[in-house]
Amino acid sequence: MIRSIHGFGLSLLVGLALLGRLGAAPPPDGLRISLIKTAQSSGAAEALVVKGGRLFTERHLIHAALLVEHPDGRFLYDTGLGRTTNDAFADNRWWHRSLLDYEQLNPAVDQLREAGYTRDDIDFIIPSHLHWDHVGGPPDFPQTPVWAPQQALTEAEHGHRPAFLVEQINAAGDWTTLELTGPAYRGFGPSLDLFGDGRLILVDLSGHAHGQVGLFIHLDSGRDLFFIGDTSWTLRGVEQAQPRPKLVQWLAGVDADREQNLSVLQRIHRLSRDQPDLDIIPAHDEFVADTLARFPQFED
Ligand SMILES: [Zn+2]
Ligand SMILES: [Zn+2]
Repeated sequence: MIRSIHGFGLSLLVGLALLGRLGAAPPPDGLRISLIKTAQSSGAAEALVVKGGRLFTERHLIHAALLVEHPDGRFLYDTGLGRTTNDAFADNRWWHRSLLDYEQLNPAVDQLREAGYTRDDIDFIIPSHLHWDHVGGPPDFPQTPVWAPQQALTEAEHGHRPAFLVEQINAAGDWTTLELTGPAYRGFGPSLDLFGDGRLILVDLSGHAHGQVGLFIHLDSGRDLFFIGDTSWTLRGVEQAQPRPKLVQWLAGVDADREQNLSVLQRIHRLSRDQPDLDIIPAHDEFVADTLARFPQFED
């Protein structure tokens, strides 16, 4: 079933979800975040993950979910890899398996359960985009609404391996259309102020994937974060405004629109120059991930 979500109706829906919750975790009394590492890449030269990267520096890109707790709702932004990822990934061609190989699989659903959460404690899921390494989680939460813009859903429906694993898309329970109806925010739009308090702002970052959704988070501590999905795999790419190497694009068809993604990357690069206090968080940068509280620790 696909429902449409935007603006005011969203708060109402989440409110109803909270009322109906029988889960174990109490509603959060403030905004806090925690990064759940679900796997890491088996390793690749940095030169393969960002143009101009170092040839002899090995990178182990992280696959992670971000748990966001807010008094009006608890959700996962991205989900990393899940319990069914091994099976779906095994059907990839060998060179794709080799290129995208991963290790230390530890699905978010298992880590949450160990920490005392139930599936019902997660009100909804917002993947930054629908590539395989971001939607391993929804099949593990078959009753949980998964919110994505229509163009992202359309792209995934027609998507191909290795970027899209259609088994994962089909196994997710409750796809819900996410409509970003707000004005441009800090140069990125359209946007959606998720709970209407200016602390969680979704913005369109189409390019790497159609309908990719970035997330600005303003913590009460004053820390200001911008999660940019896969616009770049590394902070180095943002700092130097360098895209992924053409070879990777050729081997795995990584970007839906490489030119559009480069334009988004350049805007993020300029924003980070203009606002050095803003922490830019590429979804896969393992070094940047070390600056975030790691589940079950939280940062607020
Ligand atoms: Zn991606
Ligand atoms: Zn990715």
